[in-house]
Amino acid sequence: MIEAQLDGDPPAIHPRGRKYQQQSEIVLEYHKEGGANVLYRIQPSAQGTIDPAHRTWINQLLRLRKDNISSISVDSYHRTIKKNFESDDIVRSELVICHPSIIDALNLELKQLEDDGIRPTKRLNQFISVKDLHGMLMPNMLAPAEGVYTIEMKPKWLLQSPTAPPNARRCRTCAKAARDNCKAPQRQWGGRVHLYCPLALVSDDEELVTPVIRTLFKTAHVSFENNALCSQDRIINLLTSYFTGSGDGLRLLKQLQDLQAKFDPDGAMGIAPDLEKLAFAMTLRDCSMFLRFSGDCDRPVEARLADLDPKPTEGKLSYWRKLEEQLTDEGWYTGTEKFQEIQKQDEVCLLWTRNGT
Ligand SMILES: [Zn+2]
Repeated sequence: MIEAQLDGDPPAIHPRGRKYQQQSEIVLEYHKEGGANVLYRIQPSAQGTIDPAHRTWINQLLRLRKDNISSISVDSYHRTIKKNFESDDIVRSELVICHPSIIDALNLELKQLEDDGIRPTKRLNQFISVKDLHGMLMPNMLAPAEGVYTIEMKPKWLLQSPTAPPNARRCRTCAKAARDNCKAPQRQWGGRVHLYCPLALVSDDEELVTPVIRTLFKTAHVSFENNALCSQDRIINLLTSYFTGSGDGLRLLKQLQDLQAKFDPDGAMGIAPDLEKLAFAMTLRDCSMFLRFSGDCDRPVEARLADLDPKPTEGKLSYWRKLEEQLTDEGWYTGTEKFQEIQKQDEVCLLWTRNGT
């Protein structure tokens, strides 16, 4: 935990005492990290008092960029996202600036967490960028709230890969999931990756969308057993309507689908793809969607996108190309892969029966 001080305009996080000569208002608590970011929970400090103007920062998440990423700045991506999405469609975020000594202190703490075996092993030796002092402040969407349920999901590739074979029986997401699950057969129900087909989710067909919603409920472990106000079936119907017809959820998925096509029309196998655009398309294929709904079924369902900030691009083009080759050459797209007899062949994809022989 790192003690810090907040400042209002422009939003900034300062080290304790340096500027204000007073006790810290907040602590930054390590929450989790991915390939490109470290997330901190902002908590009130035990001794300090919080300026009323800063109370809204408490319990929010602060997302800071790692230094292993491309030169595309948080600020530039922030503007790209704002240009492509309505503010009501994305998880509200605020750009803040951190004092360099806060970043130094957090990096020292990361080293300590690494020595203590707390950081994930695949993230070792990764630190927060000291060049880009911008951070993003955002609400913790999964924080418990009475009467409100939240499911986090990844819409993934809402279109087939532009370079998939024409006779594919799996979309890009299902082909990769089939490969991942086959390579790690110890993964059982709940541990398997991606149990629904994104093309079914965006199909605008109730019969295909409802099973996806049921799978989301199972994997998110959302239960309405003790909910007297609204049955689970009614909520599943509500969510199915949200992702079909004129539902707002389908509108948002279609927008995401259009942007995935716009930023990557040709795939990673092209001679000289625009790496910045391709990276943004990959971000759009790996972003999260938070679905919020109330237990009484009376309030409208809400969906917001998150994790839209830049993915690392270094070494990624060769990774994306190699993966596309493996999915094609090993038969994961066409369903002609070699799999152990003990395993059932993965037939989750919408294309499986449509393009079946
Ligand atoms: Zn699929």
